[in-house]
Amino acid sequence: MVDEHGIVPIGSSEGSGSFFRSPLPDRKQGEDNAYANALAQFEKAVSHLNLKRGVVETLRHPKRELSVTFPVLMDNQEVRVFRGYRVHHSAVKGPTKGGIRYSKEVTLDEVRALAMLMTWKCALMNIPYGGAKGGVVVDPKELSTRELERLTRRYATEISVLMGPESDIPAPDMGTNPQVMAWIMDTYSMHRGFSVPAVVTGKPVEIGGSLGRTEATGRGVAETMREALRIRGIDPEKATVAVQGFGNVGSVAARIAYEMGAKVVAITCSKGGIFNGNGLDPQAVIRHVEEGGCVYNFPNADGISNEELLTLDCDVLIVAALENQITSRNADKIRAKIIAEGANGPTTPEADEILNAKGIFIIPDILCNSGGVTVSYLEWVQDLQSFFWPVEEINLKLQALLMKAFESVMECARIYNVPNREAAQILAIQRIADAMMIRGIYP
Ligand code: GLU
Repeated sequence: MVDEHGIVPIGSSEGSGSFFRSPLPDRKQGEDNAYANALAQFEKAVSHLNLKRGVVETLRHPKRELSVTFPVLMDNQEVRVFRGYRVHHSAVKGPTKGGIRYSKEVTLDEVRALAMLMTWKCALMNIPYGGAKGGVVVDPKELSTRELERLTRRYATEISVLMGPESDIPAPDMGTNPQVMAWIMDTYSMHRGFSVPAVVTGKPVEIGGSLGRTEATGRGVAETMREALRIRGIDPEKATVAVQGFGNVGSVAARIAYEMGAKVVAITCSKGGIFNGNGLDPQAVIRHVEEGGCVYNFPNADGISNEELLTLDCDVLIVAALENQITSRNADKIRAKIIAEGANGPTTPEADEILNAKGIFIIPDILCNSGGVTVSYLEWVQDLQSFFWPVEEINLKLQALLMKAFESVMECARIYNVPNREAAQILAIQRIADAMMIRGIYP
């Protein structure tokens, strides 16, 4: 039997049966299917472009998909079997780039969608990468540190046929962190016989990580939020902000927004949330969580549910949790003036229509959360040149790339008279299509 965590006990009759032959069917259908949503966004953007049908058809599909099933020795000496994926959507512009996600919710369709978004994100930022994503069906919180290390080293070995500093470079995503990247870097290096820091980004700085990488995604969210506020004529010091998700992205974005003078009035995490109309100090909430507390039992604040936070009357709604949070079921109740998509794919295409009709300014995911992969790129460049920059330089380079991309999205939105997401994707897809045609179709 495959249980809900995607785990097959060894010796299970399904072990040599259907489970090993084909990927699990995706249980998520319709508006909840991330790949269907990514494709719907793609079709919309592509309809504005005059591309060859074959180019469009190529970009609809991942270039290659690896599905792996592997055993891990648990602390109680049992062997458990896990499923993982690594999907390359496009490698036209360079090595494929994208995070690795550890979550019980991982499906092949989700990984396909996220890989496609990585292609657009890297193209939009003008960094020389294609798009990829990986995932393992596991709740990392259920494993001990030793188990997590064994799982990571085995998964890294399984996907090492694809991975490499010139071919495919993973990074952290939901459920993974710099330590997991360190294990991947070490495993790959052990197999090669020498250290290869550039095989993975988001590593600890001690082993070739970049200064500023850990907070880069949240920093990018806050920087793009500030730009959107400027465009909408709202003073950041008078802006009210609600933050869904208090992981690495949401917590850093909240902290930097607060440092910019904005009033962070609400924060939620997966277990619940808090509201204070006078403003919360995100750094104090971060400390509270680090000391073992939960967001929802932070003192001097009222409780708030996720759904209440999403529909709060505020200037900026930062969605930094999961995909498919803003759907046709709640989009018409959203009152924020600006939505900053810290997460990948937080808004469904159905919700997009509703939000656009309401005139809400969306900072699309491939722009809003691109700070992470941008500093990943800077990390990879530093690893390859074996020369490292101070954090000030990293942040300046990040800021310059982000603002250039932001400007080009605004210009494209004006030229095509389309909402921001469509504009961002039009730009990205056109760049990939141009690269495909210049390279030519082999053979
Ligand atoms: N997982 C992050 C993202 O979705 C970062 C990817 C990377 O740095 O390669 O953009």
